[in-house]
Amino acid sequence: MELTDHAYRIQGLALTELAQKYGTPLYVYDGEKIVQQVETLKQAFSGVKLKIKYATKALSNVNILKLMKRAGTGVDAVSIEEVMLCLHVGFEPTEIMYTPNCVSFTEIQEAVGLGVMINIDNIPMLEHFGTTYGGSVPICIRLNPHILAGGNAKISVGHIDSKFGISILQLKHVHKVVEAYGLHVVGLHVHTGSDILDAEVFLKGAEILFEAAAEFSDLNFLDFGGGFKVAYKPGDISTDMKDVGFKVSQAFQDFCASYGKELEIWFEPGKFLVSECGLLLVKANVIKPTPATTFVGVDSGLNHLIRPMMYDAYHGVVNLSRLTGPERVYTIVGYICETDTIAADRKLREVQEGDLLAIKNAGAYGFSMSSNYNSRLRPAEVMLLGGMDYLIRERETFEDILRHQVDVAF
Ligand code: PLP
Repeated sequence: MELTDHAYRIQGLALTELAQKYGTPLYVYDGEKIVQQVETLKQAFSGVKLKIKYATKALSNVNILKLMKRAGTGVDAVSIEEVMLCLHVGFEPTEIMYTPNCVSFTEIQEAVGLGVMINIDNIPMLEHFGTTYGGSVPICIRLNPHILAGGNAKISVGHIDSKFGISILQLKHVHKVVEAYGLHVVGLHVHTGSDILDAEVFLKGAEILFEAAAEFSDLNFLDFGGGFKVAYKPGDISTDMKDVGFKVSQAFQDFCASYGKELEIWFEPGKFLVSECGLLLVKANVIKPTPATTFVGVDSGLNHLIRPMMYDAYHGVVNLSRLTGPERVYTIVGYICETDTIAADRKLREVQEGDLLAIKNAGAYGFSMSSNYNSRLRPAEVMLLGGMDYLIRERETFEDILRHQVDVAF
């Protein structure tokens, strides 16, 4: 978002005009930024055989998926529905990694039927898989390396208390199951969590993965999951992709040399590819001074962007309607009948009723985690590409609230 020619703009398009055209609340995605992020990742790992498996759950609009496909990524899907979405937009089954957890074996069988790569995250499922398929279907195994990654325990998933993956301490057991059923293990996976800043964390995960991988004879790839950090706060630092790319690639090449085969390196970024591309545009409904603060109540809330309330996530806020003038401190809250704080104690250009605010970093886990709580409608989504705006999801209507409800005559 740039302030040029008396307006905040993306690709030359004024955000205030987009809000006028499509209404608020409105999700706006900068498609060019997404493509740029894909390229940055590709360049950082240009020395190795990289496969990007975009974490579909971050933002799963079919047009975003199509854009990813055009940019040359594959996808990671965590539900059978996400697998079907990815197939729907034209990804080949071989481009899709299916990483479920706590699903029924029936769902895994469905995924096998669709021909995608299955990532198995518990030993009973591995045994189930062995009984049904033996070695006839290649698989990946998700390991839990027991690393506490990133600063936020709520989004760290590779530690010992986490439900995800098979503990690295159970590797011996894994081998017994693999041998007993003749399983064909072609990949190993770790995902330690989100907001990982340092190459060191990836290297720590890599070391554990390399040690485990050395004991599997027929691997084609190692998957390091997602978790690259992007900046949310002013002064925040993002993962230094060049540094991570250089160090992890080097370690990976060394491993491949000792393994005796050039494997593929897979990553499953969500936030890195789509967080910064997204804004949630909202309108100030009310400015409400209280003894403690001045609230700005907006026409959105945790039903559209749950991250602040769920993860204590910081999202920058900008008053798009005021380019100059004094700043004041506000707490921006939503209209949901809950505490519903979007951003506390923020300095914004003085807000007046009807002003348009932009909530930043709303691309990842924004719309995809939205709901109809309080029977509110979900926003429209617009994608900007090549200086054009495309409506990629219509705003919901009251009929959508009633859809699937059965009005029983009792
Ligand atoms: N891969 C898996 C298995 C995940 O669970 C997640 C996120 O929770 C991701 C990738 C993407 O993580 P991020 O958006 O932090 O890159």
